[in-house]
Amino acid sequence: MSEKLKITESSCQDDFDQNSLTADEALERILAAISPLEETETVPIRRGLDRILAEDIYSRINVPNCINSAMDGYAVRGEDIPSDGIRQLLVIGTVFAGSPLTESIGPGACARIMTGGVLPAGTDTVVIQEHVERRDDHILIDNRTHKGDNVREAGEDVRMGEQILSRGARLTPAAIGLMASLGTAEVLVTRRPKVAFFSTGDELRSIGEELHDGQVYDSNRYTLYGMLQRLGIETIDMGVVRDDRAEVEQAFQDAAASADVVITSGGVSVGEADYVKETLARLGTINFWKIAIKPGRPLAFGMINNSYFFGLPGNPVSVMVTFYQFVQPALYRLMGSNFIEPVSTHAICLSSLGKRPGRVEYQRGIMSRDENGRLVVRKTGAQGSGILSSMSQANCFIILPMENTGGEAGMEVEIQPFHGLI
Ligand code: AMP
Ligand code: MG
Repeated sequence: MSEKLKITESSCQDDFDQNSLTADEALERILAAISPLEETETVPIRRGLDRILAEDIYSRINVPNCINSAMDGYAVRGEDIPSDGIRQLLVIGTVFAGSPLTESIGPGACARIMTGGVLPAGTDTVVIQEHVERRDDHILIDNRTHKGDNVREAGEDVRMGEQILSRGARLTPAAIGLMASLGTAEVLVTRRPKVAFFSTGDELRSIGEELHDGQVYDSNRYTLYGMLQRLGIETIDMGVVRDDRAEVEQAFQDAAASADVVITSGGVSVGEADYVKETLARLGTINFWKIAIKPGRPLAFGMINNSYFFGLPGNPVSVMVTFYQFVQPALYRLMGSNFIEPVSTHAICLSSLGKRPGRVEYQRGIMSRDENGRLVVRKTGAQGSGILSSMSQANCFIILPMENTGGEAGMEVEIQPFHGLI
């Protein structure tokens, strides 16, 4: 956080309009400007879920710690398996998972064994019970089993001393389970960033207030809250700020004083007659960009004191699109994560799509499988940037590249499932 922002000034070799960027350029500049948080904390592994690992994890033990049976059956000596015909072995005991046999198994003998049971000394192979004929205290086996079959070697999952997780990884359910399998109780993770956010606009009302003509309830603070919660961020909701010079300035200062990142929505459009832009220009180092995407063209990014600042557009869909495309990767970087782009895939589009060239569009889609099992997608009706219901009906973005001009139903399109975003 102490490092200075590395935003490069545009030069005459840049685009014609230096405030006009592609989405990739904007993201590149944002990521280059963000330094990961250095503070860490130790938490019990369950509380580490979804947090970002701040250490490499090595195993102190072998998992499993002994050679054991992968099946229910009989533990035998490999050399007792007949190359053909039938061999009779004496059953001298039973091994349950967690209670090893103390005796060792000599030639011509074997032990009944359950899945997870430790192979008794002398044995190296398990003959599954379906391949055995039991006769009182004996079994008959044939040559269907080979030496070493149906066992789990010590350390076959994790070897002692092996690195199993890397710093920067997001802790998944599998990761915390893996740490539990090593007997690890606590884990070092990066501190949760604090993000303060507020909405700007005279027309905005909060839930519980009466709505007059031309006014809208503030929904951006709710979508932002939801998206930030999914990332495990500590949120500070600062409410609605009126288009008033003193109020706006106070809000920016309070937010920057209490948070690592400040996110606002509204008031960054071209030619907007409010105090947001002039206040930002005065208080911080802020860039106002026009990004070649739809929705979400205007975006402000920079710093106010030591806090990173994102000024998102006001339209509810634009807020979500710009959050997922720019803010989420930035927050991952701040948390020290090696951010991996959300997955995208391809689907056949069942709707005709309109699009102008010169910008990347994130239309809202509903993906499903058709009767032949093919992945298909249709768009969610009207695509205006104020139509939040289109986001709530959708389960993916349909991403149309810069020079695409839409087309008729039946074309293949790139889709980005929402569950890949959170
Ligand atoms: P602005 O970017 O401030 O020009 O706002 C663009 C549009 O988004 C306007 O129609 C605003 O009313 C709407 N808008 C701005 N902020 C919010 C908000 N927090 N919740 C819902 N709509 C909003
Ligand atoms: Mg406004």
